[in-house]
Amino acid sequence: GGAEVCDGLDNDCNGERDELEECGCDLVSIATPDVHSYHGPTWGAWMQDPLETLGPDLVWKMEAFDNRTLVVRYPSISDMATGSSETYQYLSYGYDGTGHVVYDGYLYYNQAYGSTIQKVDLETMTAVDSLYIPDAGYRNTYSYDWGGYSDIDLAVDEEGLWVIYATAANSGRLVLSKIDVDTFSITDTWNTGSDNKNSIGNAFMICGKLYATDTYGSSSTTVDFKFDPLTGEESNPGISISNPGGYNSSIDYNFLEQKLYSWDDGQQQTYDLTF
Ligand code: CA
Repeated sequence: GGAEVCDGLDNDCNGERDELEECGCDLVSIATPDVHSYHGPTWGAWMQDPLETLGPDLVWKMEAFDNRTLVVRYPSISDMATGSSETYQYLSYGYDGTGHVVYDGYLYYNQAYGSTIQKVDLETMTAVDSLYIPDAGYRNTYSYDWGGYSDIDLAVDEEGLWVIYATAANSGRLVLSKIDVDTFSITDTWNTGSDNKNSIGNAFMICGKLYATDTYGSSSTTVDFKFDPLTGEESNPGISISNPGGYNSSIDYNFLEQKLYSWDDGQQQTYDLTF
């Protein structure tokens, strides 16, 4: 498996669990990020749909983290950078945190004041389904180290949709669940032996494996936790990652671009990856 190369949609990470080991998408290094734009508050998230269901290049931006309802859509990253051609759209239920994802034309986010995930059709901005995450902390019970109601962090990779959170039953360490987007239900859950989520910077999924960073704030930190749900193996990969803004409030993987997207003290940036 190690000789294979990640090439986006054509790789072997196609959701067949017995092929996970063959995908060869183990993260090796993370480049210094490219800063695409700088605006908005310290905290937020910006996303592109790896399936480009509503068209190529579209960007969705969600500022701050506290029961907001505004979703700003841009035709492209360059439009986001210049602040042009934006469309303002509003959610029926506010969001907490910065763990939102866009996947196959839908927005998934943590509804404010609880542990429910909302699924919203981004064409109509209609809430089409919701999913309760049992025992998940919310509203800074088990946030990442910067706070910001970042307890419930969604992630999308070649395998589909995941949710990363923490529970009292797992002593505040990371818990990972796989979500079937069609039935909108949890199909598997894994308790990890990570650090307490309150002392973790952020987490993301790449090719069916969970990665977590040590801290949100220092300009130079590491991905110091990796968990493979297929084997249960945990390790410290010791991969360097920089937070140039000093306040990295969201990090997530886009498997079409094969980059990490982040919002770091108002900087909208991407990191090139080596596998
Ligand atoms: Ca994340």
